[in-house]
Amino acid sequence: MKKILVNDGMSSEGINILEEKKFFVETKHVPQDKLIQEINSNQFEALVVRSATKVDKAIIDGCENLKMIIRGGVGMDNIDVEYAEKKGILVFNTPSSSSTAVAELVFAHLASMTRFLHLSNRLMPLEGEVKFKDLKKSFSNGTELKNKTLGIIGFGRIGQELARIGIGVGMNIIAHDLNIKKTKIELKFFNGQTKEFEIKTTNLKEVLSQSDFISVHVPKLSKKAIIGTKEIQMMKKNAFIINTARGGVIDENALMLALEKGTISCAALDVYENEPNPSIHLMMQHNISLSPHIGAATIEAQKRIGIEVANLIIAHLK
Ligand code: NAD
Repeated sequence: MKKILVNDGMSSEGINILEEKKFFVETKHVPQDKLIQEINSNQFEALVVRSATKVDKAIIDGCENLKMIIRGGVGMDNIDVEYAEKKGILVFNTPSSSSTAVAELVFAHLASMTRFLHLSNRLMPLEGEVKFKDLKKSFSNGTELKNKTLGIIGFGRIGQELARIGIGVGMNIIAHDLNIKKTKIELKFFNGQTKEFEIKTTNLKEVLSQSDFISVHVPKLSKKAIIGTKEIQMMKKNAFIINTARGGVIDENALMLALEKGTISCAALDVYENEPNPSIHLMMQHNISLSPHIGAATIEAQKRIGIEVANLIIAHLK
């Protein structure tokens, strides 16, 4: 019986599929410093992780029996993919399963910020009983999403899914991507009708300077931020920026300064430079909407990821 270690959790749908195919699936989380010993003593052949477990050279060298590493999700920055593949280990991720979940979270943040929900949810329990009218006045200048320009930096799977929602809401979409020059976005409606939109991407400067709301969806390929002080200065004064990609894609210090000085209006973050201990100074900014890296964490996305992981294991380990 082939043995699989699922170290950061997986949906029951994925586990059931594997067990039906007679795989042994261990779902107990093994701490990082015990991983090598646990994998070797139990002869696990596949290791399934999310973002919490690091699969570095030490793990790869220490686990001779390991044949497969799977990241349930998109970003592979916690896995030394090149080294694993050099040693003949198969490495996979599940790139398309989480796009809808992340794109919808961007909109949750957007709708929250434009109507001050991020603030009113903090202040209503503290002051709502006695300062209702003051709070009503403070939060009365909301803005609408319809007819505003949504700038998307990184126009891959998640960026395009976000465009789909934005078009549905009546927004103008502009996008920048290093590799994609134009693409067709298809919208599917409740009654079975479809409508296709061609979007040509443009340069970064145009997206930064023309957008009311900017959302970043690029991988983190280097330590250098894609959005720093210079880029923030190109943005509209009342712009909002959202990062659900990876911590550090937007320079957190530059962002903090811009929020403090009012260079931009508001920011939303799902990912942080120093996870799992993000900067308290950053989180205490009043014009910021926060979530704890839950982009892909919907029931539906986790179900899709589990099924995709199971099918990858069945296809490659049987
Ligand atoms: P993708 O590979 O489909 O798209 C990324 C796009 O970015 C590509 O089209 C690429 O050409 C473009 N790109 C790369 N570097 C660029 C740059 N410097 N400037 C402009 N464009 C650039 O990836 P995806 O599935 O859309 O995922 C995007 C990001 O979302 C990844 O960083 C991933 O880790 C992150 N993500 C976060 C969560 C979460 O929980 N918050 C969940 C899933 C994915």
